[in-house]
Amino acid sequence: MNYYNKFSVCMLLLSLLAITACAQKKEHSVVSKTDISKNVIQKPENPYYSNTDTTKLNLSEAEWKKILPEDVFEVARHADTERPFTGKYWNTDVKGTYYCAACGNKLFRSDSKFSSSCGWPSFFEMANKNSVVYKDDNSLGMHRTEVLCGRCDSHLGHLFDDGPPPTGKRYCMNSIVLDFIPDTK
Ligand SMILES: [Zn+2]
Repeated sequence: MNYYNKFSVCMLLLSLLAITACAQKKEHSVVSKTDISKNVIQKPENPYYSNTDTTKLNLSEAEWKKILPEDVFEVARHADTERPFTGKYWNTDVKGTYYCAACGNKLFRSDSKFSSSCGWPSFFEMANKNSVVYKDDNSLGMHRTEVLCGRCDSHLGHLFDDGPPPTGKRYCMNSIVLDFIPDTK
């Protein structure tokens, strides 16, 4: 084998290694998928996640840290806020249902979503009475109503009184703590 042939074989092997590494990385980053046949999301790394189980969860901070992606953890468990106009749902109007990204609890239907200029997905009512709970929030020198998941107490966003009819409410949510399952035809 001459020098050029050896060089080509080397390059081919390097390319194959790179492709394999990429494929492995991609596979690792897929942590959840929607099971269209059952219309539910599966998150193998999160054993508490369910779109149908409504049993209340009471997990430790360490446990949440283990099962949630870091960006979801920061919003859900430390009440962080994503930057406006950056989340994946602030500007969508696809028909379907929104669930808690931490536990899978049903939160909102797309028909209660409205176009808001605030840069976060906004809804005028929750999906059912167990969807969310409220807490007084006096941080940042103002009084606000914090909205938490009704099943797992994760921080979702805040509730304001400047929403459209019929409720006049605006549930201002962080996209990062929402999962979405589109309606099947
Ligand atoms: Zn939840």
